[in-house]
Amino acid sequence: MKSVDFLIVGGSAAGTTAAEVIRQLKPQASITIITDENHEEYSRVLIPHYIRGKVSREQVFLKKPEWYEEKGIELIKGIKVIKLDSGGHGVDLSNGEQIGYKKLLIAIGGDVNRLNIAGSDLANILYLRTIKDADSVIEAAKKSKKGLVLGGGFVSLDFATGFRVNGVEKVVILTRDPYFWSGHLDPESGRLMKNLLLKNGVEIMTGEEADSFFGQEKVEGAVTKSGKKLEADIVGVGIGIKPDLEWLEKAGIKTNRAILTNEYLETNMADVYAAGDCAEFHDVFFERQHIMGNWANATSQGAAVGKTMIHSASSGQVGQRTVYETISSYSDTFFDNSYSFIGVTDEKFADEIIVRGSVENQKMARIFIKKMNGISRIVGATVINDPAEVSPITAAIKNKIDILKFKNRLSDPAFDLKEMLA
Ligand SMILES: Cc1cc2nc3c(=O)[nH]c(=O)nc-3n(C[C@H](O)[C@H](O)[C@H](O)COP(=O)(O)OP(=O)(O)OC[C@H]3O[C@@H](n4cnc5c(N)ncnc54)[C@H](O)[C@@H]3O)c2cc1C
Repeated sequence: MKSVDFLIVGGSAAGTTAAEVIRQLKPQASITIITDENHEEYSRVLIPHYIRGKVSREQVFLKKPEWYEEKGIELIKGIKVIKLDSGGHGVDLSNGEQIGYKKLLIAIGGDVNRLNIAGSDLANILYLRTIKDADSVIEAAKKSKKGLVLGGGFVSLDFATGFRVNGVEKVVILTRDPYFWSGHLDPESGRLMKNLLLKNGVEIMTGEEADSFFGQEKVEGAVTKSGKKLEADIVGVGIGIKPDLEWLEKAGIKTNRAILTNEYLETNMADVYAAGDCAEFHDVFFERQHIMGNWANATSQGAAVGKTMIHSASSGQVGQRTVYETISSYSDTFFDNSYSFIGVTDEKFADEIIVRGSVENQKMARIFIKKMNGISRIVGATVINDPAEVSPITAAIKNKIDILKFKNRLSDPAFDLKEMLA
C-alpha cells in the first residue's frame, strides 16, 4: 500500500492551504490531496460572480496543474475517500485503492441538503455548490422565464441574482421563516431585504415551503405546503449543507453537526485533524464549539492546522501546535447591494443586539453584544449596504473592546464606529 506523510481529503480552501503551509515548512515531506471533484482548486466565492458574468470561468480557478507540480504536492482528482482505518493509519478510495498516512486532514466541506419530495427529481431543479452546478445554473437560466428559489440564506440570494442576470423575468423566493435570514436579522432588516429584492424583480414569500413539484420531464412549478400553486421553469434549492460524516463516524471520529475538534483542530483520533466547513471546532475567541462556514475561516484553519500537523509529526517539530483564533466573515453582493456577516451572528448567543441605520436609507447593521468575562464585547454583526462599517466592527471584535461606554451611541448612525478603537 502506498503511504504518504500528509494526506489531505478535500482540495478546496482548507485542504489546499494546509498543503501549502506544510510544504513551506517541510520541503521533503510527501503530501497528497484527494478530491472527488475533477478540478484543481477553485473559488466557491467566485461562483456567484461567474454565474452573473462578472468573472470568466477561467478566473474562478485559483490553481493550475503546474502549481501542484512546482510544490511537489500530489493531487488525486475525481476519487472519493470512502473509509478510514484510523488505527491502521490508512484510507480506502472509491477506485479500490488504499493509501496510508502519518497525518490525515479531513477538509471535506459540506454536501448540499437535497429535497426528497414528489417531483424533486425533475430537470431544472438545481443545487449550487460546485463549478459544475454553476455551469448548469447558467445554461438553464438562459432558457427560463419564471424562477423559484427555496430557502432563505446566502445561496438563495446567489440563485435569485444569478437567475435574474441570466434573463429569468421573475423570481420568487420561498422561505419557511417569517422573514429573510431570520435568526440573524430582525423583522426590520428583513423588511429591508424584502424591499431590496423586490426592486430587482425578486419576491419573497415567507412562512412557505414546497410540498411537491409538478411537470413532465422538466419542472413546471411547485405546490406549497399551504396549497399555493406557483409556476416555475427553473428552481434553485438552497437549504443548507452538511458534511458526509458517516464514513468518519464508522471509524470512531466524534461528530455533532460536523467533526468535533479542539482549538488545535485535532479530532478525538490520534493524527486525524479537521478544518474548514466540516469542522465544529472549539473557538477560544467566542468560548464555544461551532462551525464557521466561510472561505476566510477555511483558509485560516487550513494554515493553522498545517502548522499543528507538522509540529506533532514524528519526523520533526518544525511547526507549532497552533490554536485557531481568527475572526472571519462572509461578505458578498446581490444586485447592487452588499452584505457582511461578521463573527457570531446567532441571536441566541448574544445578550443584546443594537440596530443601526434604517429601511428608508437602505442601510442597516445589527451589532451583537455579549458580556464575556466581565467585558461587554461585540461578538458579531450583520451589515447590509454599509461596507465602511465592516472594518471597525471587525477590529472591535478582534480586540475584545469593552464597548459599555459606547453602547448607547451605537444605534446612532452619526456615531463613527472608529471611535471605539481610539
Ligand atoms: C455558491 C457559494 C458561494 C459562496 N460565497 C461565499 C462568499 O461570498 N464568502 C464566503 O466567505 N464564503 C462563501 N461561500 C462558502 C465558502 O465557499 C466555503 O465556506 C468554503 O468553500 C469552505 O471550504 P472547505 O475547504 O472547508 O470546503 P469545500 O470548499 O466545501 O471543499 C471540500 C472539498 O472536499 C471534497 N470532498 C468531500 N468529501 C470528500 C471525500 N470523501 N473524498 C474526497 N473529496 C471529498 C468536496 O467535493 C470539495 O471539493 C460560498 C459557497 C458557495 C457554495
